Amino acid sequence: MVVVMQEGASEEQVQNVIDRLIQIGFDVHRSTGASHTVLGAVGGAEVDPRDIELLEGVREVVKISASYKLASRAFRPDGTIVKVGAPGNQIEVGGRDVVMMAGPCTVESAEQIMTIAGIMKENGIRVLRGGAFKPRTSPYSFQGMGEEGLKVLRKAADKYGLLVVSEIMNHTQIPLFCEQVDILQVGARNMQNFDLLKELAKVRKPVLLKRGPSATIEEWLLSAEYIMTGGNHNVMLCERGIRTFENYTRNTLDISAIPVIKKLSHLPVLADPSHGTGRRDKVPPMARAAVAAGADGLLIEVHHSPETALCDGAQSLYPAQFRELMSQLEMIAPAVQRSMK
Ligand code: PEP
Ligand code: MN
Repeated sequence: MVVVMQEGASEEQVQNVIDRLIQIGFDVHRSTGASHTVLGAVGGAEVDPRDIELLEGVREVVKISASYKLASRAFRPDGTIVKVGAPGNQIEVGGRDVVMMAGPCTVESAEQIMTIAGIMKENGIRVLRGGAFKPRTSPYSFQGMGEEGLKVLRKAADKYGLLVVSEIMNHTQIPLFCEQVDILQVGARNMQNFDLLKELAKVRKPVLLKRGPSATIEEWLLSAEYIMTGGNHNVMLCERGIRTFENYTRNTLDISAIPVIKKLSHLPVLADPSHGTGRRDKVPPMARAAVAAGADGLLIEVHHSPETALCDGAQSLYPAQFRELMSQLEMIAPAVQRSMK
């Protein structure tokens, strides 16, 4: 932390700030310039910069170390590879392969998910997505098939040798999800459900942590930190668009978050251009951009009959569109030293 004193701050004010910093446990390095005194504070406990900023004579406080530790790049400079599945049917997220996770927004019936699982297999996809418990904005919208949905999702995935990602809504569902899915998805609306995050810290299954619609990157990484402090280091991040003043698209997919996360954190980062744009025609260009920007994977909604989908049909790709996207990504990935999976 760096404390810049006001021009003309008295010696007494400077000393008062130094005493306070030492009291909190910091080592203080003072530098006195022609107009300003600057105090460098190293070590010490977690402190709210405003508490120092409000002391007499202080102009500005600048925090220099991140408040997240385990999620920071410094903790694992070479990056983390999260293993999904068990030996025999296992993939790595965060390595050279860009991992595709695709499927419908929601599981609608055993037939629907079986059909889409077959399409995913034909396209070489390894991870099938599908929500069984849906966080819907309106209580009148389809809420998902629940436990039954999770079971038919698993059955369809097993038939085609696929892995499964699905959204968990609360901690009471953890035993069920640990049994039925390979990746526990924490939805955007639950990114700061700290009780859920603390419980997910106790399991060892990979967690896909979506960014909250109005979360800063630091808040998002602190949510990852909640899961990691309990010992679950199998965390993957997913940028899914944030809320901005723009309303042409459903959200604004923050592509720049991908290289930012890559610099700040060692955790793999995926992108979800489906929720990020909300419009089918905008999904392929943003998917291509995300891979070019360094995403470790994509989460994409695909439906064999989007017109009749119970949820998010407008942002679901037709199978033919998805196939075309895959062939484009196969050309883009090598240009950024990656390959497709
Ligand atoms: C989803 O991926 O099914 C979903 C609901 O997304 P988000 O939490 O990003 O809105
Ligand atoms: Mn959806």
